[in-house]
Amino acid sequence: MDCIFCRIAKEDSRADIVFFDKDVIVFTDINPKAPVHLLVVPKEHIQSIAHLEASHADIVAKLIYTAKSVAEKMGLSGYQLVFNVGRDGGQVVDHLHLHLLGGWKESDD
Ligand code: AMP
Ligand code: ZN
Repeated sequence: MDCIFCRIAKEDSRADIVFFDKDVIVFTDINPKAPVHLLVVPKEHIQSIAHLEASHADIVAKLIYTAKSVAEKMGLSGYQLVFNVGRDGGQVVDHLHLHLLGGWKESDD
């Protein structure tokens, strides 16, 4: 299976990485839809929210907490967190990711 986000997580593909630890990696979306558009991604390959099992609860909580921490560090005054789920939900990359979108206020100043 060739998965772009697994490759980025293993640092076999380049990305603008803003944070990582043993479980999670955060990088800039290549096609940003907001002044700040980051993807918060588990290193483990999980296809989507629709493929979650009970054992994934901790990693999903960690994605949200990581998004909050990164947003805070970047000084974002507000932001959106979005999971697209499945093709009909707009999901294109089949590796779970949380979109962190913000920076509108900052860019208007
Ligand atoms: P989704 O539609 O929720 O699957 O979102 C996938 C996102 O991944 C899109 O916003 C793409 O712009 C982004 N994306 C795809 N390939 C890369 C990449 N190599 N590096 C960074 N972002 C990417
Ligand atoms: Zn993957």
